[in-house]
Amino acid sequence: AKEAGKNNCQFYAKGMSASAVNYLLLENDLRRAIELEQLTLHYQPQFDLASGCLTGVEALVRWQHPERGLVSPAHFIPLAEETGLIVPLGEWVLRAACVQQKQWIDAGLNVPRVAVNLSTRQFRQRDFPGKVASVLRHSELPAEYLELEITESCAMEHAGETINQLNQLNQMGVQLSIDDFGTGYSSLAYLKRFPLAKLKIDSSFVFDLPLDQNDAAIARSIIGLAHNMQLTVVAEGVEKVHQAEWLLAEGCDQAQGFLYAKPLPADQFESHFNRAGEF
Ligand code: C2E
Ligand code: CA
Ligand code: CA
Ligand code: CA
Repeated sequence: AKEAGKNNCQFYAKGMSASAVNYLLLENDLRRAIELEQLTLHYQPQFDLASGCLTGVEALVRWQHPERGLVSPAHFIPLAEETGLIVPLGEWVLRAACVQQKQWIDAGLNVPRVAVNLSTRQFRQRDFPGKVASVLRHSELPAEYLELEITESCAMEHAGETINQLNQLNQMGVQLSIDDFGTGYSSLAYLKRFPLAKLKIDSSFVFDLPLDQNDAAIARSIIGLAHNMQLTVVAEGVEKVHQAEWLLAEGCDQAQGFLYAKPLPADQFESHFNRAGEF
């Protein structure tokens, strides 16, 4: 039995080795990527559905890997979260987005706001609001130009601490949004105590609009809930004109998605922006 156990163990170790090595390589690469600034941000615009005006941009991180090419955040954010690398990575993203937004203001480009995604680990750091204050100071970006997105599940996980962190950020003048709304389990009692500006309807409820009756019911409820709480509501993943028309008719405030623009590198975003006068 002992022998079998040992063999099992070896077998297990062998079976694991390829992916474990790959994982370690990727972890090392990611560590270096943060140091070498192989990370880059793409920006996806958001629009007011009724007027078509640009309301802001969301910063989305990309990894320009020397051999693997452009790596999607869906691949390395989970790894970064597990290893704790998400904290330096998230700080890099925050700094880069604030510096970019400040450049746009200085260049006279009317970008109303930049939204940055936060991971749970980053947001839960006790001194996180202080870190944001320091980034704003160094980039000389007024706080109202920064929006921070936390996911619904992150917000609800330790709701008491969430309120405390959000209050500090809100007092600084930063805008706060709940991302991927509808995918977690919200306590409405907590939701109303968070000092929020926005709810973002998760794209999974948007893709099959307006035909899917369940998605339509969910989207409608989120729009109603947001408005009852005086919050702005944004639909993500809008790809088709029909979705945008339905959302506008249902009173959704803003939209973001491939119908308008994919996430773009800053220079492409700027030339698009300049050519269109606005967008
Ligand atoms: P998210 O915050 O929900 O971001 C929206 C994702 O939907 C982005 O994927 C965006 O490119 C994609 N998207 C936008 N419009 C459409 C559309 O019309 N159709 C479809 N099919 N997709 C659309 P991306 O850039 O691959 O990012 C994936 C996720 O990675 C993000 O989801 C976010 O959770 C995470 N992420 C990205 N950047 C950061 C970051 O800087 N920090 C952290 N913590 N997470 C990030
Ligand atoms: Ca987001
Ligand atoms: Ca989202
Ligand atoms: Ca998402």
